[in-house]
Amino acid sequence: MQISLKGQVALVTGASSGLGAAAAKGLADSGAAVVVNFHSQAGPAEKLVDEIRAAGGQAIAVGADVSKEKEVEQLFEKTIEAFGRLDILLANSGLQQDAAVDQMTLEQWNTVINVNLTGQFLCARAALRQFATQEIRPDISRALGKIIHMSSVHQVIPWAGHVNYAASKGGVDLLMRSIAQEVGERRIRVNSIAPGAIRTAINTKATSGDAENKLLKLIPYGRVGEPEDVANAVVWLASDASDYIHGATLFIDGGMSLYPGFRDNG
Ligand code: NAD
Repeated sequence: MQISLKGQVALVTGASSGLGAAAAKGLADSGAAVVVNFHSQAGPAEKLVDEIRAAGGQAIAVGADVSKEKEVEQLFEKTIEAFGRLDILLANSGLQQDAAVDQMTLEQWNTVINVNLTGQFLCARAALRQFATQEIRPDISRALGKIIHMSSVHQVIPWAGHVNYAASKGGVDLLMRSIAQEVGERRIRVNSIAPGAIRTAINTKATSGDAENKLLKLIPYGRVGEPEDVANAVVWLASDASDYIHGATLFIDGGMSLYPGFRDNG
């Protein structure tokens, strides 16, 4: 199956590292013009933009904090200034601030909810407002626009010591499905990706050394995921190859959400 996103414009938040960077590259390799959003790491974002351009693609880097309403609005304005339209939003930005629940500060709770959940709402809202100004272009896509939320297996798997993160991703699930129900008839497709353990900066400790062996017990398929495993799914979910997929969460987790602890018990 050949996937072409030629003529389409994609905005990827948190694209200076990890899954966002891999997805931005994958989208650009498939022909989309890409806006590489970064929070604080301008250098890696500019480097990624240079790589995409060197390979013949189109990209710009734009700084914005996705938890700030004004900054999100400016991010979308700069996208339209540069490329004239928006077809694909990958709302990817996310972070963890871990603590035992009785030790967790309100600041840790709020920071994670603000970025992981409110940021997803602000970006989806801005994308929907932009899609409302556009017409379907059948020559580039059957959909008026596509929104992909980056969730996590922890939208379904409870996670002790990470209640803020798990609550934020559980929230993303109902945010995504409610938006999908609300805007589907406008031919806007809304879906989520829920990665398991993928080797990125967010979980360096858990994916190296002895911790990796422990982690592998939770992954029936027997390996830690790589950013490209997720990037390939993003490209497919952004394309017409998945045109009838709407309101779905694609788990990319090597089976982590199959509760492998029950293999030999129960
Ligand atoms: P990462 O730390 O490399 O990427 C997170 C990105 O979010 C960074 O680029 C960071 O700058 C950006 N970000 C943080 N706060 C921001 C803000 N206020 N505004 C804008 N951007 C901000 O880690 P990653 O693994 O690539 O994570 C990407 C997404 O994937 C996150 O939503 C994360 O929850 C999700 N995820 C990752 C895994 C995994 O195993 N790596 C598993 C499940 C879900």
